[in-house]
Amino acid sequence: MTETLSEDPKPVRPLLSRVVLALLCVGAVAYGVLLLPYARALWWLHAYAALPETYVLPVRGVAKDDLSPSFGAPRASGGHEGIDVLAPAGTPVLAAADGVIIGNRPSAVGGNVLWVMGAGRRLYYYAHMRELAPGMHLGRLARRGETIGTVGNTGNAARTPPHLHFGIYVVASHFYPLRYSPIDPYPILHTGAQ
Ligand SMILES: [Zn+2]
Repeated sequence: MTETLSEDPKPVRPLLSRVVLALLCVGAVAYGVLLLPYARALWWLHAYAALPETYVLPVRGVAKDDLSPSFGAPRASGGHEGIDVLAPAGTPVLAAADGVIIGNRPSAVGGNVLWVMGAGRRLYYYAHMRELAPGMHLGRLARRGETIGTVGNTGNAARTPPHLHFGIYVVASHFYPLRYSPIDPYPILHTGAQ
C-alpha cells in the first residue's frame, strides 16, 4: 500500500524571498548613500589622470602674492599640512579645481570641511569654513571656481583670525583612495593659479 504524502507547506521560500528583497533594498540604499560617492570618486581617479593645468585661488579676492608659504610649519599636531589663506569671515571659498566631494562631515580639528577628489589623484581639503555652501553633499561634483563655502575659524582655529586652511594630498593608490600624503599647495597655486 502506497501512501501519498501530503505536501508540506513551504514557508521557507516566501521568507527567503522577503529576506532577499530586504537585503536588496538595504543594499540599494547603502549604495546610494554610502558607496555611490566613493564609486564616483574611484571612477574619477581612473578617468581623469592628468593634472589640472590651472587652478583658481581658493578664496575670492585673494591674489597670488597675498599667499604665504606655511606648509611644514610647526603645529600642535605636527607639520602644517597646507597653507592658510587669511580673509575676512564670510568671504567666499572657491573650488581650486574640479572634483567629487568625498567628505563633508565637520571635525574637531578642521571644523566645517570639504574633501574633494580631483584629477591626477589629488585630494583637496578646505577647512575652518564658517559654513558650507548649500548642497555640498557627498558625490556631488564641485566645479573649479564654484563657491563651496565661506571663510571662518571653525574647528581648532577658533582663536585665530578667520582663514581658509587649504591642503592638497596625493592619493597613493587608484584602488584605495583613503591613503594619501600631503604636498605643498603654495608653489602649485603660485604658479598654476589664475
Ligand atoms: Zn592651516
